[in-house]
Amino acid sequence: MLSLSIDQQVQQWRLLLAQFPASLAVRLQELIERHQAELAGYFYERMLADEAASQFLSHDEVKLRLDSALQRWLRMLFSASLTNDLQPLVGLQKQVGEIHARIGVPVHLVLQGAGCLKRRFYALLEDEGWSDADRLLAQRMFVELIDHAMEIISRAYASSHDRNARNEEAYRLFSVAQNVGAEKERQRAALLDWENQLMFDLAMGLESQQLPRLGASEFGLWFRHKGSYAFQGTTEVNQILESMERIDNVLLPMFGGREVDAETRMQRLRDLREQAKSVVFHLDTLFEQVNELESGRDVLTRMLNRKFLPVVMAKEVAYSRKSGRPFAVLAIDIDHFKMINDTHGHEAGDLVLQQVALLLSNHSRGGDYVFRLGGEEFLMLLVDISASGAVGVADKLRRQVEKEVFRLPREQSLQLTISVGVAGHDGHPDYQNLLRAADEALYRAKHGGRNRVELA
Ligand code: GH3
Ligand code: MG
Ligand code: MG
Repeated sequence: MLSLSIDQQVQQWRLLLAQFPASLAVRLQELIERHQAELAGYFYERMLADEAASQFLSHDEVKLRLDSALQRWLRMLFSASLTNDLQPLVGLQKQVGEIHARIGVPVHLVLQGAGCLKRRFYALLEDEGWSDADRLLAQRMFVELIDHAMEIISRAYASSHDRNARNEEAYRLFSVAQNVGAEKERQRAALLDWENQLMFDLAMGLESQQLPRLGASEFGLWFRHKGSYAFQGTTEVNQILESMERIDNVLLPMFGGREVDAETRMQRLRDLREQAKSVVFHLDTLFEQVNELESGRDVLTRMLNRKFLPVVMAKEVAYSRKSGRPFAVLAIDIDHFKMINDTHGHEAGDLVLQQVALLLSNHSRGGDYVFRLGGEEFLMLLVDISASGAVGVADKLRRQVEKEVFRLPREQSLQLTISVGVAGHDGHPDYQNLLRAADEALYRAKHGGRNRVELA
């Protein structure tokens, strides 16, 4: 359902348009062009009056842009219907859905906005003096087009939202599972303990109900309460739960009680062993997946990599909006890094990157984040700090780097500088704005001569 191709969506749109006469589409387009400002104005006024909606709309820049964006959207919706080129139209709806997901605009608010537009359109149509039949058909076409756009927007929203949720989950796991290796060993040992105990009790001839249940063992408790939650959504979790269920409720009850021949007993023991092995196997697979989460850290510098940038940014934007505490980002780029590689070799370059990353991380506070965005570019997110405070931090970092002596292989060393673009969060709900601003400031720092800090 979620993954319709662009072609399929274009095709659906075409089928929808085919229901209406071309002459109506022309009249409707003309009508929308004449009233787009009024429709957008009404939409904005009504949505701003809604408390839940206004938090997404009240930022000055949103105010400034949304009005024209909404008018453009309406115009495109009705003019593209006259052409055969529907792909950009579908693309635009997807883009809107993705922006909504990034900012966290709930779907019901979008539908509420669509409702506003429909009601206003009905009222406008009343004054146009069209025949009843034409008016009804125009209403239908307006509603169907808006609804179809909403469908694509919601679909894009949902898949983007799911992706974000998965990354969030991964991040949670990643930040919680500090010591994945140790946990894995502990749980494997716990499983082994249970198995040893079971074999001993079987050898002692204990009754079936006295045999240790896997679900109640140390491992079983951990898995049912924590492991299955931490790894939720994977097939392995279900397989482990099923194996545990089968061991405890099907296989173990077969032991004890009635005497059986040695052959049957051996077969049951083998079954038991198979199920236990399958638990170990799936557990290993799960932990391997967590190891892949390590890819959330950049392998060379151990800083966070790009993957978690959207999660962290969205989290901090939301926190800042709720708490009223400002935060800032620093876009950091090493000056003339290519020359270091060229002069001293790539290996020396790597060593320098590691030391710069360590320096940045050593000079950040507990709540701050250091990302390596790629190459010799870093991004720091400083929490609870004003833009001017962040400039102070950035300049301190710059001076620190300037005076640091970086070690190279073979007892060599060198000095280097960084350029920094600083941007303070101004309340805009879309974090891309902030990243863009920091990037532009960095660009100015480079062009202003490097080894300097610029504020967006
Ligand atoms: P500027 O002052 O304008 O930032 O110049 P620059 O030389 O630092 O910037 P440029 O983007 O031209 O070069 C960046 C270089 O970083 C090019 C690339 O070979 C090198 N690089 C990227 N990733 C790595 C890495 O992981 N290790 C090493 N050693 N070098 C890398
Ligand atoms: Mg550089
Ligand atoms: Mg660069």
